[in-house]
Amino acid sequence: MKSDKNNENKADLSKKDKELGMHRKIDRRDFIQDISLASIALALPGISFAQVNEQPTDSSTKKNYPPSRTGLRGSHPGAFENAHKMAREGKSWKSGKNTGESYDLVVVGGGISGLASAYYYRKQHPSARILIIENHDDFGGHAKRNEFHQGGEMRLSWGGTMNLEFPMFSDNVNAFLTEIGVNIPDLVKQTNFDYGFDGKNGPAIYFDKQTYGKDILSVPCNFRGFSLTKLAEKIHEFPISEESKTSLKAFIELRTDIRKSMTDDQVHQMMHKTSYIDFIIKYGKVTAEAAELFVKTTDGYWGVSAHSLSVAESVDSGLPIEHILGGDPIEISNRSVGGTVAMFPDGNASIARLLVRKLIPTVTSGKETDDIVSAKFNYSMLDKKDNRINLRLNSTVINVQHEKDKKSVSISYIKDNSILKINAKHCVLACYHSIIPHICPELPDKQKQAARYQVKRPLILTNVLLKNSKAADILGISGAYCPGRMHGACWLVKGVESPDYKHDWSDDGPVAMMFWGTIAADKKGLSIKEQHRNSRRQMLELTFEDYEREVRSVLDGMLGPAGFDAKNDILAITVNRWPHGYAYDYLDLWDPEWPKGGAPHEIARKAFGNIAIANADAGANAYTHVAIDQANRAVNDLIQMNKSSV
Ligand SMILES: Cc1cc2nc3c(=O)[nH]c(=O)nc-3n(C[C@H](O)[C@H](O)[C@H](O)COP(=O)(O)OP(=O)(O)OC[C@H]3O[C@@H](n4cnc5c(N)ncnc54)[C@H](O)[C@@H]3O)c2cc1C
Repeated sequence: MKSDKNNENKADLSKKDKELGMHRKIDRRDFIQDISLASIALALPGISFAQVNEQPTDSSTKKNYPPSRTGLRGSHPGAFENAHKMAREGKSWKSGKNTGESYDLVVVGGGISGLASAYYYRKQHPSARILIIENHDDFGGHAKRNEFHQGGEMRLSWGGTMNLEFPMFSDNVNAFLTEIGVNIPDLVKQTNFDYGFDGKNGPAIYFDKQTYGKDILSVPCNFRGFSLTKLAEKIHEFPISEESKTSLKAFIELRTDIRKSMTDDQVHQMMHKTSYIDFIIKYGKVTAEAAELFVKTTDGYWGVSAHSLSVAESVDSGLPIEHILGGDPIEISNRSVGGTVAMFPDGNASIARLLVRKLIPTVTSGKETDDIVSAKFNYSMLDKKDNRINLRLNSTVINVQHEKDKKSVSISYIKDNSILKINAKHCVLACYHSIIPHICPELPDKQKQAARYQVKRPLILTNVLLKNSKAADILGISGAYCPGRMHGACWLVKGVESPDYKHDWSDDGPVAMMFWGTIAADKKGLSIKEQHRNSRRQMLELTFEDYEREVRSVLDGMLGPAGFDAKNDILAITVNRWPHGYAYDYLDLWDPEWPKGGAPHEIARKAFGNIAIANADAGANAYTHVAIDQANRAVNDLIQMNKSSV
């Protein structure tokens, strides 16, 4: 959000707020009915009642059903405060009360990697007793779904990870997915979705009034994966100076190979040591004002801005590059922005749900993949004394250490303000690398230092349930790039179906508009890791009202001319904050090249005694298939360690 937007006086703001419907009762403002959340607020001094108030339970069923909660989700209030006390304030706790519970395996983190670790371990040890401990009120980590019931029929959207990038899968991942019932060709068939480039409608660029002086919607138009010829035809509509328009048009229409006069070293320098923004200014000769329009194009896809990506990395993002490197611009226009992917209607939450059902069959009925999307999970069955495998939510692990005899591990965690201690033969840390040095201080210093290197990239994903897509249909858009706004992009969520869930593009009922991106650092000159920390701080400081005002303003300005009424046409809002989002992958402009085996993630993931390390960070790549491969490696590490200690 731009800081210079608040020059209107307070009276104007409150008038504008009324027009936007900020005073309207929508689902997230329902009064708190979930006692467990109220008790979290009372137990944790860092959380105000107001924050918990933004965290309602499912008002349609009045039941504890985390996927249908609206308000602040993702990293929700109550999930992260203890971890932050430990990591930021250096707080330590006295040893917890030993509950006497003992397991073969305890997994820290209930994301895809943690769930897959439990799955792989059980494969090796079919009668093993396993406990998965997760600090959020729902399982899946980033693989969360947002359920909406406010318009009648259930409508789904992604709360975090969306697609399966199956062309990149290893044999191991293919085998794993087949075992849990995922059929990629079936998923591809049911996926008619391309991130705002879909159906009868097209992509757009929305220039907002607060940033650019007036609301302008350029349709069809985009900077990524879009025909350069069509883009050139739209530039006259852009709210920038004539000089900037001319420079941008000249760049887009240029057909050359600027490498012709360069040495190999110069080409390398340009491709790997120049940011995309600097590249288009220096080699594309666009003005700084025109270049600024591209800054947020890579926010969602990479978790970093186009200032932070090299030219080589930006090629993958479908940005205009190849036409001045002797490439074929048609290729760019034909490229699908989302790449070749397969999807469930709730994204990779279905992978998490399939895994949980395999591990704890009593949690829901059904056993086919065809019914997983509509299956209702009974969360009270996740953690039962008689289960062989349990999943314990709302619990933050604060210490993992070997017992004196080195044959087992003690694990301490905080739940409901109590510190509890349990014991396990093995432990898999499937949480983030950056928290591992705090919860496992006995690791070698070199390993802890390596784990600290990876700072996850924050991401924000806000779902707004609209009464219908009528205004978007009138305007002919299914999504838009928003260069001036907090979320760099938004798109309608339709067209991903399953045998038990239908929502195609002809449906004229309620539909989620998903807003997607990352919050830009509010200071210049920061390193990439400082940018992530700055973005994370802002993300956690903003209130629900800030996010609500932001998405209402965008919808009002973008769809208002086609009759959209922000006061009446918004049914619910769910803000998924991911301050620890994408795993840290190494970028040309920010990271050195590491010798084989010497990269931070390779050092950080080494097993130590009876403790192994999974999570996408361990593969330095933010993908579901990486999280699965790393779970497999971590469980194999435990087996190897056991063999060598015999
Ligand atoms: C918004 C978003 C969109 C994405 N989209 C895609 C996509 O479309 N396709 C794709 O392949 N990948 C995508 N990803 C990448 C995604 O991170 C991986 O695919 C994968 O889900 C990571 O799983 P994980 O188990 O390694 O980590 P996580 O999902 O982060 O799970 C780790 C879990 O451990 C918990 N934890 C941490 N510390 C503790 C503690 N001390 N005690 C207890 N629990 C703890 C965390 O809260 C978390 O729930 C996306 C990520 C984000 C954030």
